[in-house]
Parts: sequence; structure tokens; C-alpha cells
Amino acid sequence: MSQFKVIVTDDRFKSYKEEEDVLKEIDAEVEVHNLETEQEAIKVLRSADALLVNLYPLKGKAIKKLSQCRVISRYGVGYDNVDVEAATSAGIWVARVPDYSFEDVSDQALALLLGCIRKIPYKDRRIREGGWNLKDEQPVHRIKGRTLGLIGYGAIGKTFHKKISGLGLARVLVYDPIIEHNIIREAGAEPVDFDTLLKESDYISIHVPLNDETRGMIGEKEIFRMKRDAILINTSRGQVLREKALYNALKEGRINSAGLDVFEKEPLPGDSPLRTLDNVILSDHTGFYSEESIVELKTKAARNVLEVLKGGKPIYPVNQV
Ligand code: NAD
Repeated sequence: MSQFKVIVTDDRFKSYKEEEDVLKEIDAEVEVHNLETEQEAIKVLRSADALLVNLYPLKGKAIKKLSQCRVISRYGVGYDNVDVEAATSAGIWVARVPDYSFEDVSDQALALLLGCIRKIPYKDRRIREGGWNLKDEQPVHRIKGRTLGLIGYGAIGKTFHKKISGLGLARVLVYDPIIEHNIIREAGAEPVDFDTLLKESDYISIHVPLNDETRGMIGEKEIFRMKRDAILINTSRGQVLREKALYNALKEGRINSAGLDVFEKEPLPGDSPLRTLDNVILSDHTGFYSEESIVELKTKAARNVLEVLKGGKPIYPVNQV
């Protein structure tokens, strides 16, 4: 029998090799479940020394009944499906993985932006229908000399900036009221206020967290401040952007186009009017995904468990016990 039992509450991966590789150091076995009811959770999780949680809603009632669990490690950045207060009261660490996908989300933002600039999905659709020589319908403009505006300059915003730096942009503007201006300047960008960013950018990419201040921060008023040929990219959270205002602006040609990985409601409803527009590129909130990011996520989630079962604290703790 192994020394420790680590239970996966809900199975969303093809294999658990990464977790097993990390946890073999302490002779821990990984047991995978697909919990459905709270009753089942209470029964199954009783013997767990640690939990790896994907989307399963781990409520206070089940947490209180954990008799030997020392850490709940969430696969991902957010942890709203885990009752952290209940875990803290029970003396159980809660941990997460905040940094596994900034390379991938910044790749996605860049891909969406280049797709909008060069009109690739639009041209692909028309060519499949028999079209050719499409240049008059949707003019393409050169990147060199253009201005990029980044809203939010954290892990993803910064990485995106680095990646786009070789494309000949004239200026990179950053609106991020929380980080110091000299960090932005040293990276070769200009710290600006929100209004300047909206008015002077040709391309705008959003990289803020969703909170009370950022919810709906781009609505009709903000879109009307943008240039008529502005391209707007959102890989952050759907609710940062007022979708109806964006739809109206795209339909009326108030801005050039948009690339969206995230939506107010997900999955994007079948009758969403965004599906009818040619000047928007849609992706399915998979900016975080690459084969490599998933390996990183699984390895880091397991390392949180490893550190606690070895007697230490998680690498990325959410609470203090
Ligand atoms: P981060 O915390 O590293 O950076 C966020 C930045 O936003 C910080 O620099 C912060 O100072 C800034 N900020 C906060 N409030 C602001 C405001 N009101 N105005 C302007 N700037 C503000 O986060 P990150 O890892 O770069 O993630 C950015 C976004 O990407 C988040 O919304 C996250 O949920 C999202 N995300 C999406 C995917 C996906 O699959 N599409 C995956 C991971 C993360």
C-alpha cells in the first residue's frame, strides 16, 4: 500500500502521468474519480491525503468531512469552485496554478490580431465559396508604423508585448494603473491614461482580470473613442467587454474588426449575432491551451501537493493555515 493517497475529484485528462511522476518521490498513489453527488464526495474523499480538483464544486459540507486531507490543489488559475473559507477553518491548504498559460494566451492574442489584420479567416471563407481577388472588399493595412494599446500589463500583456516587438510597430501604449510607470518604460512601452489608449491605438488588446472595476470597462462610449479602423482583441474575460455594444460597432463599421477568445456567456450561444459577422474572429476560450501548457498545469498542481505532503507549504498557496 502507498504511503499517501491523492484523489482527483473530476477526470478531465487522458492520463495522470505527470502527477504520478511528481508524486512517486513520496510514494503517493493517484486515484481518479468523477464525483457527482455530495454524498459520494463525502464517502470517497474520506481516505484522501490530498485532492486535485478540476471543475468539481467542492463545498464546505464535503470539506468539513475530510478527515486526513492536508491540501486541495486546483488545476488552474481561479479557485471559485472551492470553499476556501471552509478549507482554512479545517486547517487545509488551498493551492492553484497561476502561471501555466501566459505563453499560450499571448500566442492566441497574437494569432487573433494577425488574423484580423490580414483578414485570413474572412479570405479563407470566401475562397472556399469560389471567391478570388478579394482585396477591394476588405482592405488590408501594413503593421509597420502602427500603434498597439495594451490594457493590463501583467504576465500575458508583457509576454504579448515581447512577442509582437519584431513587427515594426511605431508605439506600444499601456494602460495599467496598478504597476509602476518605469516598469512599462523600461520594457519599451509608454504608460498612458485610458482615454489616450482608446484614442491613439490602432490595435487594442485586453489583458486585465475580471473584477468590479474592469467589468464592462469597454462599452459603447469607449468603442466610440477608438479609431474607425481599430482592431480589438479580447483574450481576458468576456464580461470586461459589452458584447452588444461591440456587435453594433462591428456591424456599423465603427471599428474595423475584433478577435475574441472569451464571451459574456460561454459557450457562445447558438443565436449570438456575433456569429453572423465577417469582421470578427471567434475562438472557444482555449487561449490557455497547448499540449505543453497542460503538462505544466498538471506538473505544477501535483507539486503543490508534493510540497505539503513533504511537510512544507504549497508553491502557489491561496490561503494560510
Ligand atoms: P495578471 O494578474 O498577471 O495581470 C493583470 C494585469 O492587469 C496586472 O498588471 C494588473 O495591474 C492589471 N490591471 C488590474 N486592474 C486593472 C484595471 N482596472 N485597468 C488596467 N489594468 C488593470 O493576469 P494575466 O495572467 O496576465 O491574465 C490576464 C487576463 O487573462 C485575466 O483576465 C485572465 O483571466 C485571462 N486569462 C485568459 C485565458 C484564456 O484561456 N483566454 C487564460 C488565462 C488567463
